[in-house]
Amino acid sequence: MDSQSDENIAGGLHYPHGLNWAPEPGKPFEVADGVYWLRMPLPMKLDHINLWLLEDGDGWTLVDTGMNLEDIQDIWTDLFTGFCGGKPVKRLIVTHMHPDHTGLAGWICQRFDCPLWMAREEFLMCKMLVQDTGKPVPDAAIRFYQAAGLTDEQIDHYRKRFGWFGRFIYRLPDAYRRLMDRETISINGRYWQIITGHGHSPEHASLYCPALRLMISGDQVLPRITPNVSVFPSEPQGDPLSEWLVSCAKIRGLLPDDVLVLPSHQEPFIGLHTRLTQIIESHERGMDRLYELLEVPKLAVECFGALFKSKINPQTLNMATGETLAHLNCLLGRKMIFRKRGEDGRDYYQQLPDACKYDLD
Ligand SMILES: [Zn+2]
Ligand SMILES: [Zn+2]
Repeated sequence: MDSQSDENIAGGLHYPHGLNWAPEPGKPFEVADGVYWLRMPLPMKLDHINLWLLEDGDGWTLVDTGMNLEDIQDIWTDLFTGFCGGKPVKRLIVTHMHPDHTGLAGWICQRFDCPLWMAREEFLMCKMLVQDTGKPVPDAAIRFYQAAGLTDEQIDHYRKRFGWFGRFIYRLPDAYRRLMDRETISINGRYWQIITGHGHSPEHASLYCPALRLMISGDQVLPRITPNVSVFPSEPQGDPLSEWLVSCAKIRGLLPDDVLVLPSHQEPFIGLHTRLTQIIESHERGMDRLYELLEVPKLAVECFGALFKSKINPQTLNMATGETLAHLNCLLGRKMIFRKRGEDGRDYYQQLPDACKYDLD
């Protein structure tokens, strides 16, 4: 049976190591010359993250870290003394600020006295968000969720969870090395290009190595899940979905289709262009359904049915609200809908007359 056998192909993508196959957590597996795939557990519904260990001369370059949890620190400690052969981590690259990716950055950099390489908006935003831990919810955030249509009880639930982000992030270093879009860095004598993307997080960095035909995609491109793209209370008028769609198209234009994509969740795959097109189209279809629904005025929370197949529960409510607002703000930016604040203080969204839909291009 060749490697293109049917069980390795799903949804138009080819999984060379198999669909649903992954190395055992904590046991690195070589996916390309000197590039190792490390699975780490996550205590969430999405129960794992993929991290990457890159041989780098007399040491290692790591990409992403896992969450700041004792179990994860223990797995790293074993790897540092065992698998890594006592060679030091010379550099830590972090794709973006989310706790599953950045959680142990401060801990690893402290242990090896090595630099943290990260895009500037990720570093600064992460520093800002960890400050929320232990503080009360700002009024602006309450007003934001009230306007979206959350009930008092749902806002109370949010209040209790506020500040969770910082709890899974070890104190970041005070200084870092900035990663910039399109810059080329050298790892183990090979060139890797940094490609930034926006929308899932403010300045997400992916890495592309032409010599190995590899892309370490972070959360920018995942094979079967669409990364969360949300509006947050700190920037209610933000339009992260437009930025996300532009980023997906940019990467599709820059990178070849036949690279092996190493994503942060699920399995490595080939079919970058197909996947990026699927992601773009799924958002566009979502916005089409949303537009249809808005024939009559609706609150953001009344629009979930247009975007999500699964039922929204208290755990997913804020994320679903943020993602729905991202689609609504994108439609607002395209002048397809308008927003009106009701006398009840909540925001209602509705279609603009058809003519405006075609005014755009
Ligand atoms: Zn993420
Ligand atoms: Zn992630």
